[in-house]
Amino acid sequence: MIKKIAFTGVVVALLVLLMPAGMTAGSSPAVTASSVDVNFPASLTFHVTTSSDANITDVRLHYIVDRMSHAQIVSEIRVPVAPAKNVTAEWLWDMRMSGGMPPGSSIDYWWTVTDAGGGTLETAPARVYIDDDRYDWQHITRGSVTLFWYEGNDAFAGDLMNAVDAALSRLAANTGAALADPVRLYIYASSADLQGSMIFPQEWTGGVAFTEYGVVTIGIPPDAAGLDWGTGAIAHELTHLVVHQVTFNPYNSLPTWLDEGLAMTAEGELGSQFTDVLSDAIGNDSLISVRSLASPFSALTYEALLSYAESFEVVTYLIDTYGRDRMFQLLNTFAQGSGYDEALTGVYGLDMDSLNAAWQASLAAVS
Ligand SMILES: [Zn+2]
Repeated sequence: MIKKIAFTGVVVALLVLLMPAGMTAGSSPAVTASSVDVNFPASLTFHVTTSSDANITDVRLHYIVDRMSHAQIVSEIRVPVAPAKNVTAEWLWDMRMSGGMPPGSSIDYWWTVTDAGGGTLETAPARVYIDDDRYDWQHITRGSVTLFWYEGNDAFAGDLMNAVDAALSRLAANTGAALADPVRLYIYASSADLQGSMIFPQEWTGGVAFTEYGVVTIGIPPDAAGLDWGTGAIAHELTHLVVHQVTFNPYNSLPTWLDEGLAMTAEGELGSQFTDVLSDAIGNDSLISVRSLASPFSALTYEALLSYAESFEVVTYLIDTYGRDRMFQLLNTFAQGSGYDEALTGVYGLDMDSLNAAWQASLAAVS
């Protein structure tokens, strides 16, 4: 006990000796400048300039990405600094490491600064928007949907907006599901322009649904062929957003065949590249089971086409046989975090295997 007291005395004496003359407790760091450079889509650079009457020893960036999540996650980055009274620091966020963010997303961020005198400062939160400034965007809003585009006239944008309305109506008629939160559609003038907005573009990417951000990006040339393809692509990706909003829960996702099947039915009729593969598989008795289609689809072209085609057919079978209200009930059951077989059995009295058998029997009956 005596030893401990003596030791404490030494520490206090040392601190008094180390404290420079004239310094009082309560030094106060200040942030004199703070900014963010957005280099879309590759990186963000956060800059801060700070000063104090004691050496600044610790500079941290804190940020929250604005997206649908189950818990608000605050990230904290300690930015290395050489102790000094005036410090300029920066931190580069390389999106190639973390995965990209879509145009129209935003980040709230703030700084904390600590100096050697024990003074601390926390700045007020600021928001930075991630925009694709390579293009001069125009926008129109109808209901909860804002459409951004930069090539093509107002009539083109109006036609795309009509495609949005038609897709939402078809989805509501088929499933009862509707948009709960605002969404933003970014229409690029080509798939090459779209790929320039992505961190890891795939050659075949025509559209992307960023479900957590409520953002869809699609490449649609402003001509008749583009509009024809784009109408289906908008319906498909928009459906992914609506279904995600309706079923969002921390426990479970949807089986892939349901998510993709709903997106496919929102597009309208199945195209011939799908029906050809489907009749082929029916003829060869090589259909993929509904249970296998619950997992992510194969990247191989034939298997992928067949997976999408079957998903369309299974969802169409459920809607045609049992109606819209049951489909809405199924989505609401998934929103509770239900397991796949549990949800299907609860709503239709069929698990995935009996659904597979019932659906395949219905195919045999018509062919
Ligand atoms: Zn899809």
